[in-house]
Amino acid sequence: MTSQKSLLLVHAHPDDETIGTGATMAKYLAEGARVTLVTCTAGEMGEILVPELAHLAADRDDALGEHRKGEIADAMAALKAPDGSEVDHRWLGGFGTYRDSGMTWSEDRTHAQPDPDARENAFWYADLNEAADHLVTIIREVRPQVLVTYDEFGNYGHPDHIQAHRVATYAAHLAAVPTYKKELGEAHEIDRIFWTAIAESWIREGLRAARAAGDEDALGGMDPEGPLPMATPDVDIAAAIDGTAYADQKVAAMRSYPTQMNMEEGMFAMTNSLGTTAWSHEHFRIAKGRLETDPDGGISPDLFAGL
Ligand SMILES: [Zn+2]
Repeated sequence: MTSQKSLLLVHAHPDDETIGTGATMAKYLAEGARVTLVTCTAGEMGEILVPELAHLAADRDDALGEHRKGEIADAMAALKAPDGSEVDHRWLGGFGTYRDSGMTWSEDRTHAQPDPDARENAFWYADLNEAADHLVTIIREVRPQVLVTYDEFGNYGHPDHIQAHRVATYAAHLAAVPTYKKELGEAHEIDRIFWTAIAESWIREGLRAARAAGDEDALGGMDPEGPLPMATPDVDIAAAIDGTAYADQKVAAMRSYPTQMNMEEGMFAMTNSLGTTAWSHEHFRIAKGRLETDPDGGISPDLFAGL
């Protein structure tokens, strides 16, 4: 029996892992855990912020997926541990199996839907059982105690994020059933499942600090005192990773995605006014298992606490 901690993260597109969980990945890697990242699509339908690379777009050369493959490799290099350990990065079903579904809003703007130009192999249209089986194989191989993915709304409604949630949730269940497809490996039950989140207090404080430092565009110009649809009430947060020691690595990883994030100006440029600690804390809701907290019902600083 090995007692090594094993953390599995399931994300939709290259960059999601870094924005939402980059510090968490760097921290557990540095602490000697096995960290496995499964990316479900290559983000082929994403916008391209670098004008010279605009030709990579899906409606032109359709080569953004290949390019983002390079970006995520750079990001993983930025997150590596001092001893050289790296994230074990996999593509769900192998690179190119599932394509980015794109995202448009419904006419009444109540929900997001796949791009009308989404291809047949768009992740949104994936056979759920088939997609889950790819992940069951990985779960049974790397045997994580902790799984991190999105909530049922994919945190902000993107079809690929919703699908990532569905696939991760279904696969976690199937992987634990001893009689389910034994050829995919020995059954494994994941102790805890977390959903990524952004704590309301953290985002409000960050926005206030950015404004005080003269940055009005932080996170798309959201009002620190106004409604924050993407924030999670603090009372629903189970764990918070203080990644201050890993914030430089996380920001370096974010800088590995120039096609997706402009770190110099606009919504992601909070490092200009706040430094890398603008991105240092990452929050989680608990979706399966129990987490030891202090008697006041506080927030756990460790996803593996008590395991
Ligand atoms: Zn995404």
